Amino acid sequence: MINPVFHSDSEEPLVLIVDDCPASHRLFRASVAGDALRVEGATSGKDGMIKAEVFQPDLVLLDLNMPGVDGFDMLRLLKNNANTRDIPVLVVSGASRPQEKVRVFDLGAVDFVVKPFELSELRARIHVALRTQGLLRMLAQRAQIDGLTGLFNRSYFDQRWREEHQRAIRSGQPLSLAFVDLDKFKEINDTFGHSAGDEVLTGVATMIQKTLRVGDIPCRFGGEEFVIILPDTAPKHAALLCERIRSQCEHMVWARHTDRNVTLSIGVTGTESPGPHASEKWIEEADRNLYRAKSEGRNRVKTSDLGRGGIKAAS
Ligand SMILES: [Mg+2]
Repeated sequence: MINPVFHSDSEEPLVLIVDDCPASHRLFRASVAGDALRVEGATSGKDGMIKAEVFQPDLVLLDLNMPGVDGFDMLRLLKNNANTRDIPVLVVSGASRPQEKVRVFDLGAVDFVVKPFELSELRARIHVALRTQGLLRMLAQRAQIDGLTGLFNRSYFDQRWREEHQRAIRSGQPLSLAFVDLDKFKEINDTFGHSAGDEVLTGVATMIQKTLRVGDIPCRFGGEEFVIILPDTAPKHAALLCERIRSQCEHMVWARHTDRNVTLSIGVTGTESPGPHASEKWIEEADRNLYRAKSEGRNRVKTSDLGRGGIKAAS
């Protein structure tokens, strides 16, 4: 999935009606009038496909019998397109033969309502489909979140990093990557207990999130290590941002160990114009800089610029 779009909870679900008959549009709209829903319409399969891609509706109501791209074609197109594959489709059709229904379900529809229909039944089925979709989306989101810190988890990072790396190469925009590691974290766990350790991880994660800008992507890499993807950011700017994070952490006061502060070592790499470096190379390079930060005494930021070809200007 490229560029995951999470609908905010405050946004009303969007239903896209695809039917060549204007009277059907009026009926559909009447069935959900007064509900907290937004409705968009298309009167052909072709237009429906375009609107499904652009609007990313939460549900498509699809007529089967349309001239040109019919409902079967559109269902196939929706399910073969990575950007529309996960949108649930409720088929509404005059065709009521079992073979037709089976074919529609085989193609990936979630429900089938036969025309003519009761408005209240259609409304009920629309709401069931939206509820299921909402739960699926919530599960998908939870599977990407680290339970302790609330940051994105490692598996999300792995996928997102490849996407951002590819995107930067395509667009020629700057990109940076930062590995952030808590210094002597084991000591905190050993001296003050694991719940104190958890408090530090959560506190640092919250501070990182507050310090970053909209569009930066902080993840928990594992253990006491975080990784931040910084799209549209040159390494020198990434280094400044990471320096802020480092400095803020140093000055945080911890309730359970007021005399023992916590410091961070950070390794940054990136470039103004992404060249041929494989995405794994970036990770190795950022990790190497993190190691340098550790070996030079911890509580510092080390940065390198990948340039277009070789690595240059380490600082
Ligand atoms: Mg029709």
